[in-house]
Amino acid sequence: MLKNDQLDRWDRENFFHPSTHLAQFARGEAPSRIIKTGKGCHITDRDDNELLDAFAGLYCVNAGYGREEITDAIAEQAKELAYYHAYVGHGTEASITLAKMILDRAPEHMSKVYFGLSGSDANETNIKLVWYYNNILGRPEKKKIISRWRGYHGSGLMTGSLTGLHLFHKKFDLPLSQVIHTEAPYYFRRPDLAMSEADFVDHCVAELERLIEEEGADTIAAFIGEPALGTGGLVPPPEGYWEAIQKVLEKHDILLIADEVVTGFGRLGSMFGSEHYGLKPDLITIAKGLTSAYAPLSGSIVSDKMWKVLEQGTDENGPIGHGWTYSAHPIGAAAGVANLELLDKLDLVGNAGRTGAYFEKALQAAVGDHANVGDVRGEGLLCAVEFVQDRDTRTFFDASEGVGGKVAGALLAAGVIGRAMPQGDIIGFAPPFCVTEAEADEIATKLARAVKSVL
Ligand code: PLP
Repeated sequence: MLKNDQLDRWDRENFFHPSTHLAQFARGEAPSRIIKTGKGCHITDRDDNELLDAFAGLYCVNAGYGREEITDAIAEQAKELAYYHAYVGHGTEASITLAKMILDRAPEHMSKVYFGLSGSDANETNIKLVWYYNNILGRPEKKKIISRWRGYHGSGLMTGSLTGLHLFHKKFDLPLSQVIHTEAPYYFRRPDLAMSEADFVDHCVAELERLIEEEGADTIAAFIGEPALGTGGLVPPPEGYWEAIQKVLEKHDILLIADEVVTGFGRLGSMFGSEHYGLKPDLITIAKGLTSAYAPLSGSIVSDKMWKVLEQGTDENGPIGHGWTYSAHPIGAAAGVANLELLDKLDLVGNAGRTGAYFEKALQAAVGDHANVGDVRGEGLLCAVEFVQDRDTRTFFDASEGVGGKVAGALLAAGVIGRAMPQGDIIGFAPPFCVTEAEADEIATKLARAVKSVL
C-alpha cells in the first residue's frame, strides 16, 4: 500500500480533479481527501477517520455503502460476462431485466429505456431525441430548449448549456445558442418579499409565457426541469407550479423532459419525482439512484408518444445514429437490478419519505431559530438550510463570503459531511436512504454547533 505522503504527492502531480480549484490544489493549499472504505451511511478516510456522509457521495449512494447484494451481483456479472455491446439488437439478461424493472416503476405512459453512463450523457441523448422527433414530424425550426436558471443538467456542451448556473458557463463559451433560460421556481428568493406563493407561481408562468411569445412557440421544442431543484439550491417547487407550467407547455406543443437524475428511485420518498408532483413528462432522465452509484449507468426513459415517432423515423431513415460503446454495460445493469431489488426488499424509498420528514423537523428544531438561518426546507431526503444576513429584510450574504462552505467545514471537523451548494450560502443534506433517526439527530445536533461556531 502507498504511504500517505506519496499518495498525496501523486494526487497533486497527476490527477485532474473535477470541479476543483486547480491552482490551489496543485500548490497544496486545498486538502487532498482520500476515501478508503464505506459502510451504511459512513465512510472512512485514509487516516481512518470515520465520517457520517450526509450527502451520499454526490447524492447517489442511495442504498448506502457496502451493500453485498450489489457488490456480489457486480462480481458475478464480471466473471460471467464483463462486457458486450447493445448495438443492433444485442443485449444481456441484466440489461433486458433492468429495462423491464425501470418501466414497471416509471409512470405508465413511458415506453422504452435507452441506457447511457452518466446523467450528462442521458440528457445529451434526450436533446438529440427531441430534435430527431421534430425533424421526423417535419418541423425543423422547432428546436430551442427552455431550461431554468439554477437548474443543473450536467456539464457537457449541451447539458452544460442547459445548466443554469454561471459557474458552469464561465470561460467555456456556454450556453449554446439553442438554449434559453427562464425563472427558477425558488419561492424563498422571489423578487418581491410581499409576493404570496400562489402569486409567485403566476409570476413564473407569466415569465415562461413571455419567453415563448418572444421566441415564437414554433421555435421551441422542449422544456427541461428537475422535479425539485437540486444543485441550484435543493428547492422543492411551490404548490401548483408543475400543474401550471405543464398547461403552458401543452398549449404550445412543447415537450417536457423531467430530469430525475437526483429524484429518480426514491429520494423524495416516491419512486419518481414525476409521480410526487404529478408531472407527465415525454422523457425522463435517470442516473445516480439507478445503481446507487455502485457502477456508472444512466438512462433516458421515452414516452409512448415519442417512441411511435422514433420508430417511424427509422422506417424512413434507417437505424438511429446514436450509440455509446458502454450503453447498457452489463456490470452497470447487474448493479441496477440488484439495487432496485434491494430498494424494494428493505422499503428504502418508504424510509426516505419517513426519515426525510423526521430529518427536516430535526433540522428545523436545531437551527430554525438562529438569526442567520433564513430557510430550512426539504422533501424526502433532500434537505437544505439557507443562511441570510438578515431574516426580516431577507438580506442575503454575498456569495463570495462562502458561508455555506464555512459551515460545511465546521461540520466536517465534527465528522459529518454536508454539501456547500454552489450558490455559496446553502448547506445541503441528502443522506443514503438507510439513514436512521439517531443519525438524523446527530447531523442536526452537529450542524447546530457548526452554525454557532461560524455565525
Ligand atoms: N442532472 C441532474 C439533475 C444532476 O443533479 C446531475 C448531476 O449531479 C446531472 C444531471 C449530471 O449527471 P452526471 O454528473 O452523472 O453527468
